Amino acid sequence: MPTNSQVRVRFAPSPTGDLHVGNIRTALFDWAYARHTGGKLIFRIEDTDTERVTDQYIQAAIETLKWLGLNWDEGPEVGGDLGPYLQSQRLDIYAEWAQKFINQGDAYYCYCSSEELEARRQEQMKNNKAPGYDGKCRDLSDEQVSSYKSQGRKAVVRMRMPKGETTFVDLIRGEVKFEHQFVPDFVLARADGSPLYTLAVAVDDILMKITHVLRGEDLLSSTPRQIRVYQAMGVDPKDYPLFAHLPFVMGQDNAKLSKRNGEVSIAWYREQGFLPEAICNYLALLGWSPGDDKENITLQELVALFTIERVNSSPARFDMKKLEAINGDKIRALDIDKFLELSIPFLKKSQVVSGTPEEIKVVKSALPIIQERIVKLSEIPKMLNFLFMKNFSVDPEELPKLLDDSAQKVLSTALAKVENLTDWTHQKIEEVLRIALIEELGLKPRIAFSAIRIAVTGSHISPPLFESLELLGKERSISRIKAVISK
Ligand code: GLU
Repeated sequence: MPTNSQVRVRFAPSPTGDLHVGNIRTALFDWAYARHTGGKLIFRIEDTDTERVTDQYIQAAIETLKWLGLNWDEGPEVGGDLGPYLQSQRLDIYAEWAQKFINQGDAYYCYCSSEELEARRQEQMKNNKAPGYDGKCRDLSDEQVSSYKSQGRKAVVRMRMPKGETTFVDLIRGEVKFEHQFVPDFVLARADGSPLYTLAVAVDDILMKITHVLRGEDLLSSTPRQIRVYQAMGVDPKDYPLFAHLPFVMGQDNAKLSKRNGEVSIAWYREQGFLPEAICNYLALLGWSPGDDKENITLQELVALFTIERVNSSPARFDMKKLEAINGDKIRALDIDKFLELSIPFLKKSQVVSGTPEEIKVVKSALPIIQERIVKLSEIPKMLNFLFMKNFSVDPEELPKLLDDSAQKVLSTALAKVENLTDWTHQKIEEVLRIALIEELGLKPRIAFSAIRIAVTGSHISPPLFESLELLGKERSISRIKAVISK
């Protein structure tokens, strides 16, 4: 670990799309480790793949981290002494290092065309040899170089991998060893001079004085190549960053979570009404645990408890039901003003309300009765729509349930009782309906109340019935019941 005592961790996504669960789990662990140790979080955008990383995705990544409450100390928007923090603005730095490696003999120009490389790769596989660069251009003579140049060939810069092995201690996995016979000479820069990931990431981790690299297990195999770049840079091994490769996140089908088995962007979770604190809470448990069975944790608790020792090396499984349960808990923990503030955009988007002060007042009075019942904010419009419908009608699929004799009997008995009520409170409504329908008619509550629920809310999914009737008011409740009697 670099000798400067302060921990410096980086989150270094390549935003080629919206950030996904895996990216954000990494960001969260990076952030938690930096905050737990009182260190710094460096946010670096790895946009050397200029065709796929767009400015829109970079902005979306920044916005997503902010929404989740994960702040950074150096990087886009905040700056820092060791920037710029966009790799596309550091191309001259990588080109200089690549040239230096060539001058030192650590790297060389490789003139092999992609067709030639592919043909040799096929040959290696046919002969049961590990596929990879065979070192053809390692020691070209001046004549060979001139000949290639006169043929108009362009050269990439390739790193020379010495014989032997690379060993390092991964903070999660322990000692990891890579035999170099399986780590062929690799490309550092393309023929047009642009850097590849391995060059840019290693140079930046050193120049930005990164002490800890916490990242996904999929990058484990690139580590010996990055260590080779540190060596060529002349970095003292005690100043190499320490690595901690976070376990894979698997989908329900036990395959690595990907778009194919259900991984979707964090933007999708946001649209569905998952709260940032629920996403962080749930993702924190994907490969890490607070040490007991506690599953409901806040970001503050995560910071206090987060250590790399508590990160598991075996894969974690993504479980949507558990995320929903945690989201439900976080929704129940919201105070009413915050809950209201978060609900309004969902209600407006579904055109249940336009946002007038009167509507907001009604929403505010209705929210407490649904807070216990929902797991996602996107359920709110369907739950509260009945309070705002101008031309109310029962869902055509539900209507037949109101037309048989027993439903009609329930509705007319209920109507007769509530019509005379002067005190329109949910307690009073419940009391008279229970006496009339359960005690006097001897009906089961589910049967008795379901017809009324459908008649006044239009659907069998609604907030608690008596509270719904109170909120709807006597006049509208009665007219809706009347409308379905003898339809
Ligand atoms: N930019 C790389 C990626 O998004 C990660 C770099 C790293 O963490 O080493 O896959």
